[in-house]
Amino acid sequence: MPDPNRDPSRLPPSLWAETAEPAPATAPLPAGEHRCDLLVIGAGFTGLSAALHAAREGIPTMVLEAAEIGWGASGRNNGLAIPALTRADPDVLVAAFGADKGESVVSILRDSAQFLFDLVRAHDIRCEARQTGWLQPAHRASRMALARARHAQWQRRGAPVDLLDRDQVEALTGTRFWHGGWINRSGGHINPLGFARGLGRAAIDAGAQVCTRSPVTALARDGDGWRATTPQGTVRARAVVLATHGYTGLFAPSPWPDLARTMVPTRSYQMATRPIPPALRAGILPTDVAMSDTHNDLHFAHWDAEGRLVTGGALVIPLGYAHRLRARISDRWLRVYPQLAALGTLQFDHVWHGYFASTPDRIPRFHRLADGVVTWLGCNGRGVALGTALGPVLADAALGRAEALARLPFEAPRPVAAQAAVKRLAMAAMLYYRWLDGRD
Ligand SMILES: Cc1cc2nc3c(=O)[nH]c(=O)nc-3n(C[C@H](O)[C@H](O)[C@H](O)COP(=O)(O)OP(=O)(O)OC[C@H]3O[C@@H](n4cnc5c(N)ncnc54)[C@H](O)[C@@H]3O)c2cc1C
Repeated sequence: MPDPNRDPSRLPPSLWAETAEPAPATAPLPAGEHRCDLLVIGAGFTGLSAALHAAREGIPTMVLEAAEIGWGASGRNNGLAIPALTRADPDVLVAAFGADKGESVVSILRDSAQFLFDLVRAHDIRCEARQTGWLQPAHRASRMALARARHAQWQRRGAPVDLLDRDQVEALTGTRFWHGGWINRSGGHINPLGFARGLGRAAIDAGAQVCTRSPVTALARDGDGWRATTPQGTVRARAVVLATHGYTGLFAPSPWPDLARTMVPTRSYQMATRPIPPALRAGILPTDVAMSDTHNDLHFAHWDAEGRLVTGGALVIPLGYAHRLRARISDRWLRVYPQLAALGTLQFDHVWHGYFASTPDRIPRFHRLADGVVTWLGCNGRGVALGTALGPVLADAALGRAEALARLPFEAPRPVAAQAAVKRLAMAAMLYYRWLDGRD
């Protein structure tokens, strides 16, 4: 049977597809020639946030999406709004991008979750948004060094962070499985498809035209602007935000041919239990915090509004993933919360997957591909808050606004050498990372 996660004609079988608010009405691009000032390609958090920002300023804005709003990573992620990257800590970003641009990216990242939750409130987006903080607990005592370093780097930059001892983490998680950790109070969790749809609705209300089932098959210079071609019609625009991210060239053509070679599309598996009885739930993540820990084979979870544990896991071999993940991740959470054994095993009603863009050094990339065309790639699994916060900056940069252009470290695209081999190696590397997880 074809994998429903890979079918652009329908949404993946995720929890979010079942529980998100309905999508705003959209249609494919009508036949003929269309014009706008800002064209956004891709209707995920990055593209929709860019479109909302521009449309609110009265700039004629169009969005072309190959499938549906939130069909890519934005509608199928875990929903953790995390104002931090996986490995690229603030000092790493500054070392990579230089003091000015590095601190500029750090400040966008620092404020990203707050930006997201402010958007939710400003546009009354119904997406189960809970700004209850994002916690990174340490899975071994030795990993407290990492927690201390991250806390110190973010505290120096004014982020709302706290270092937590084991008792404090127990109060937030209901278990002594972890040894302590750190928390960023501006983080939290959302129903991501609901958020994408709410952003889409807000952009349309602000005047943007959002066209779905409209894959861009070519993007070419046209006078002093750009022309995007879809199977139905064309759009001429002064400026373009390319927001195809980890889905660049995967299920629709890459509008910028070489871009797909600059990242490694990485598959991530997500799962949700059936609702867990309130009495059992009460002792598990009792403050409704969003969490992902220091394991390389990440342990992550949060509650949805109906009391389902929304989690996931990594697999080295994708064959038969749904069955194997159910057993593996049930065992994992029974070890962390032995009281769940009252349920026998955890029953997962939903298992799904999607792709995000990885870079070999885990550092995001920002490209000004040509005059008036910008993009970013390489969230490395942390783009819910960052993609949303980057949208307006990218829109302004595409429109040539000097202040926005100065905020991001734009660089020429760098193809990943031996991309196919790196992809296979990345899967095998998980075995090594699991081994590392058990070492100090
Ligand atoms: C399974 C999974 C779990 C994740 N969990 C988290 C998490 O909990 N927290 C976190 O911070 N990050 C998480 N991430 C990462 C996060 O989801 C992404 O960084 C973020 O959603 C990227 O948003 P985006 O708008 O840049 O790209 P996407 O949401 O991927 O959107 C790209 C869009 O471009 C469209 N497109 C592609 N080609 C074309 C074309 N030629 N023409 C028109 N449209 C096109 C695609 O259909 C797609 O809708 C996760 C990612 C995955 C896959």
